[in-house]
Amino acid sequence: MIVFGWGTRAKPLGEGFCQTCDNCGNTRRFLVVENSKRVTLYFVPVIKWSREYFYVCPICSHGFQIRDRPLAQRIVAGALCDPVTPEPSLIARLREST
Ligand SMILES: [Zn+2]
Repeated sequence: MIVFGWGTRAKPLGEGFCQTCDNCGNTRRFLVVENSKRVTLYFVPVIKWSREYFYVCPICSHGFQIRDRPLAQRIVAGALCDPVTPEPSLIARLREST
């Protein structure tokens, strides 16, 4: 018997900057999440496609899409150095990509 599966998996890549959520009003460190659609064979992923990145509030999951993986990684790296003061250009790029 062959066991196939498929679905969307959300994997947190790391924490982003401290921000006040537009939706729930909480100020928390946002999360950078990778969503990938995948096919699994015996529970091992064999195909992944359509990876998408999101920057979301940890409380209510409100957020926006990050255009590409390099930008997602820059946010995680930037927030690691200083989570309180986001690079303004990064946040501007995030907002324009929605
Ligand atoms: Zn929220």
